[in-house]
Amino acid sequence: MAPKMHAAVVEQFGKPLSLLELEIPTPGASQILVKTEACGVCHTDLHAAHGDWPVKPTLPFIPGHEAIGLVTSVGSGVTIVKEGDRVGVPWLYSACGHCEYCLTAWETVCAKAEFGGYTKNGGFAEYLIADPNYVAHVPAGLDPKQAAPLICAGITTYSPMRHWGVTAGKKVGIVGLGGLGHMGVKFAHAMGAHTVVFTTSLSKVKDAKRLGADEVVISKNADEMQKHAGTFDFILDCVSADHDINAYINLLTRDGNMTLVGAPEKPLSLSSFGLIFGRRSVSGSPIGGIAETQAMLDFCGKHNITSDVEVIAIQQINQAYERLVKADVKYRFSIDMASLKAE
Ligand code: NAP
Repeated sequence: MAPKMHAAVVEQFGKPLSLLELEIPTPGASQILVKTEACGVCHTDLHAAHGDWPVKPTLPFIPGHEAIGLVTSVGSGVTIVKEGDRVGVPWLYSACGHCEYCLTAWETVCAKAEFGGYTKNGGFAEYLIADPNYVAHVPAGLDPKQAAPLICAGITTYSPMRHWGVTAGKKVGIVGLGGLGHMGVKFAHAMGAHTVVFTTSLSKVKDAKRLGADEVVISKNADEMQKHAGTFDFILDCVSADHDINAYINLLTRDGNMTLVGAPEKPLSLSSFGLIFGRRSVSGSPIGGIAETQAMLDFCGKHNITSDVEVIAIQQINQAYERLVKADVKYRFSIDMASLKAE
């Protein structure tokens, strides 16, 4: 009988995940098999399980794109990863490798990209298959449970900050203190920027400062918002639900940029006036390429940056999803795969 593993599986959109026993997949010649140690729970996993986005995953599927684990076997053609390596398996599962984007380390926008935990099975499982060209090596000293969210929340916030030149002397806003947002605060602070958190949750004010914020604004308070009008070089919007982005665009300085990484299911409304007067811009940013993911992990290793996690057993995944909807997590659920041994 083929060896089995446990996995949390989305069988129907909008329904609880099922904990199933499945065959351990066998890696092909150009693939590796990774034994998962930990996997973060991103809001994207929730969007995926609800079928929120225009392109939906094919059912059934195993979510999870913040996996860290040990390589247990490699295909016959694999040379760049070896058994025993600790790797992070990201959202970008694979890409074509030869288009203009792949050749310039922007494989995240390759038209042939596949996505872990979405178009390919992901890390809510004891084992997962990965492409060795699209895994990152986890620096020694980072705990897998705390480091797992770096594989998505980390790179998704680090990449646009590097792109838009966040450095000392810049004023940076982080909107939404969730899994992505709290990593954004840590990076902006570590890069030396004056960091301001915008939150809807009064209960997160103290934490925001502990995480590295110089100031915290309750975004529902129009007077507090107005005090910052026209002053931000860069704002990173990490909000998962419908909200007013125009209020933030008005806080940008001339030529300031607001990058959206949050991906609410409904289109956001955008007033052109806030952009025109001030020559401001709004853009989006998808995770980050594998070279930049490695650079981010090395930066984290050097600055001892990890995620603030609430460690859960995989059996608690459906409660975790319910709490994620209510923004009730400080600041990332991280599944400890050792919990499956208890089954
Ligand atoms: P999360 O942990 O649930 O955090 C989202 C935060 O948004 C909440 O903590 C809350 O912060 C704020 N928020 C929630 N509902 C809100 C509302 N109605 N109005 C205003 N603020 C609200 O989610 P996450 O895992 O960080 O993911 C955030 C978004 O990024 C998701 O849409 C996800 O799919 C997307 N994402 C995109 C990429 C990419 O490549 N671009 C990668 C990963 C994830 P406060 O309590 O502080 O207000």
